[in-house]
Amino acid sequence: MLLLTTIAEARSACDRIRAQGKTLGLVPTMGALHQGHLSLVRAAQASCDAVAVSIFVNPTQFGPKEDFAGYPRNLEQDCQTLEAAGVDLVFAPSAEEMYPAGASTFVEVTGLSARLDGASRPSHFRGVATVVTKLLHIFAPDRAFFGQKDAAQVAILRKMVRDLLFPVQLDVCPTVREPDGLALSSRNTYLTPEQRRQALVLSRALLAVERKARAGELDSGKLLAVALRILEGEPGVVVDYCRIVNPDTLEDLPEVGHGGLVAVAARVGSTRLIDNLLL
Ligand code: AMP
Repeated sequence: MLLLTTIAEARSACDRIRAQGKTLGLVPTMGALHQGHLSLVRAAQASCDAVAVSIFVNPTQFGPKEDFAGYPRNLEQDCQTLEAAGVDLVFAPSAEEMYPAGASTFVEVTGLSARLDGASRPSHFRGVATVVTKLLHIFAPDRAFFGQKDAAQVAILRKMVRDLLFPVQLDVCPTVREPDGLALSSRNTYLTPEQRRQALVLSRALLAVERKARAGELDSGKLLAVALRILEGEPGVVVDYCRIVNPDTLEDLPEVGHGGLVAVAARVGSTRLIDNLLL
């Protein structure tokens, strides 16, 4: 497995892969890898000849008071995991490599970027869209793999790829969960055992909504009331949003007759967690 840190090296490695007639899959991550990330790697390996994983804690997607400095970083262990998984190439650039001094160009998917997490994290999706644009330019992959766990990110990147004519297919993989329902996240390592228990309320609320919708309730207001009752029953958890939206536009849906995305974000202590389910 190659571990590369410069854009020039990554570009030449991709050129060599393409020269052999191989297809390339890209899995962008911020590292601190878990089984959710590895499910994307496996999906990439199942459909592409070669797989590249990027590990980059992207400063532009963190707000000034967010956890950029403390975000878990463990490149050595991540590389061991990816090597054992049979990944071909890891790209772990510095912030200076990805954002040369004076860089002032950003990509913003207007409208969508201000919804869901974008409402409470105002420059978050601009940072995500910008870094993914850079990664797609560096790797020019045939396919890029993302998790349904970050549903708003998926909607925004799909729109960006369409609007800006990127010649790439986006693949979205299901959320991987702990056996008790907690969605895997690199941020779960911040949780104390008590907070870890409290955090289960997110998936519990989503499942209750799904059950109620399956039983025939179509009214989003009534479905959300079920979720909020469960979320508010856990005093350690402060809800940021809980909404039922169109998964493509992220706009609120008054009813779920044609499906919908139920998405929640909440703080457990100082850790912000997100989760969602497609109805
Ligand atoms: P991150 O390192 O948190 O930026 O995530 C990198 C990629 O892994 C994103 O496309 C995430 O949506 C995806 N991902 C994170 N957690 C999970 C999970 N529990 N299940 C599936 N994919 C995930």
